[in-house]
Amino acid sequence: MITIGITSSIVDIGRLSTALDNIASINGKQVLPFVLPNIEPTKAWSYMKNLDGLLMTGGGDINPMLFNEEPHPQLGSITPERDLFEMALAKAALAEEKPVLAICRGMQILNLAAGGDMYQDLPSQFQGELIQHHQRAPREYGSHQIQMNDSSTLTSIVGTQTMVVNSFHHQAVRHVPSPFAVVGWTNDGVVEAIEHETHPFQVGVQWHPENMKDDYSKKLFQGFLHACESCRSRSKAN
Ligand code: MN
Repeated sequence: MITIGITSSIVDIGRLSTALDNIASINGKQVLPFVLPNIEPTKAWSYMKNLDGLLMTGGGDINPMLFNEEPHPQLGSITPERDLFEMALAKAALAEEKPVLAICRGMQILNLAAGGDMYQDLPSQFQGELIQHHQRAPREYGSHQIQMNDSSTLTSIVGTQTMVVNSFHHQAVRHVPSPFAVVGWTNDGVVEAIEHETHPFQVGVQWHPENMKDDYSKKLFQGFLHACESCRSRSKAN
């Protein structure tokens, strides 16, 4: 069985939680999902040594201290313990070369862990005219188009360069440093997908595929699970 860690939210004071869609999106006969608590960042390294993959889930805003900025007036609620634990998890996953699928907030954390930065609030900080990135349509409904780089892992996994995805964010990645590359955008120029240039599957998406019911989202999770499986057989062989 492959083991996959799922990051959790601590928005409700005194409680750990994650949406069931996060678990359902990767759960299967050959998968053991683990919901990870936001404990000491030092333990993140032990988690990533033992897990075959990491699903970084969505959630609330991110502490701007992580990229050396003061809080913008439009910054929402933050959960500093979660930020610190997830930063350590992402760094450990990168160092251990484990497959990562990072969703929404998860993609922003992955990019910060690689040394990048982000917009605290798109509507007030983005240069240019924005489309709507916080849809009022139901969660499973794709509301905006994205274009993807034709040579990206993402494009080869989903089998298309253009898709319609859902959108629930007012934050977004800004500078994306090597070894990550931007591989997907909305028509307004907001980054919607990033991936590691050489690792087979360290991918970040700004949308929420776990809430979508289309074939592209299924293929994305299948691609992730396949990478986790390969990672497991590689580590067994060593
Ligand atoms: Mn969007």
